[in-house]
Amino acid sequence: MSSTFTTTTIKTTTTSSIRKRRTKVLLGHLYEYVALTYNFVCALILSRKRITKKIPKLNTDMQYYKGKTLILDLDETLVHSVRLGSESSFKEVSPSVIRKKVEVQCDKQSLLYEVYKRPHVDFFLKTISQWYKVVIYTASMAEYADPVIDWLDQDNNVISQRFFRQSCVLRNGNFLKDLTLAEEDLCKVCLVDNSPIAFDMYKENGIALPTWISNPNDESLLDLLPFLDALRFTADVRSVLRLQHKLT
Ligand SMILES: [Mg+2]
Repeated sequence: MSSTFTTTTIKTTTTSSIRKRRTKVLLGHLYEYVALTYNFVCALILSRKRITKKIPKLNTDMQYYKGKTLILDLDETLVHSVRLGSESSFKEVSPSVIRKKVEVQCDKQSLLYEVYKRPHVDFFLKTISQWYKVVIYTASMAEYADPVIDWLDQDNNVISQRFFRQSCVLRNGNFLKDLTLAEEDLCKVCLVDNSPIAFDMYKENGIALPTWISNPNDESLLDLLPFLDALRFTADVRSVLRLQHKLT
C-alpha cells in the first residue's frame, strides 16, 4: 500500500515538474516571439522614416510647368491660306508643302480656300501639347478658322480651346488678343504670333515668330521647341520673355 502511494506521489511530482518545464519553455518561446515582433515593427517604422526622408518632396521647380498655357496664332504662324480664284492663288507653292481645300460658308456665300501647313506643324503641335495646354487664338473668322483647326487637330487631342475674331480687342484698326481669356494668371501664359501687334496688350507674354507664307524649308517651328521646352519650367514666363524683348 505504502509502495503504491509512493509510486503515485512520484508520478504526480514528475508530471507536475514536466508541466512546469513545458510552461517555462512555452513562455520562453512566447517571450522570444513578442521580442522578435517588437523588433521587427520597430525596424519597419524606422526604415519607413528613413525612406520617407530619402525621397525628396516633389521638386517645386517641377511644379511650375503644370498648368502653363501656350496660345498660338493661326495664319502665317501655323498655316497660310489663299482664296481660290484670287490673285495670290496663282502663285506656285512647292508640292512638298501639305495642303487642303477648305470650304467656308460666309454670308450665304461659299468660298473655297487652299490652306498650306507650315513645315513641321504636326510635330510641333504634338510635342507642345505634352508640355502646355494649347490654345489657338486667331483674328480670323470662326467660319474659316474652325475647319482649319479641325484639320490641324484631326484626333481632337492637341488643341484645348479656340478663340476667333469676335474675342479680339479692336484697337486702332488692329486685332489684339486678350490672353486672360485663356489664362487669367499672366505668369502662366504666352502667345506665339507672327504679328507682334497681336500681343500689344501683353508685350511680356509674347513670342514673335517669323511670318510664313510658302517656304518649304522653313524650320522656325522646330527652332522654337527648345525654347518652349525650357520656358515651361519658369515660375513666371514674363521673367524670361521680357529679357527677349530687351534684346531685340
Ligand atoms: Mg498671324
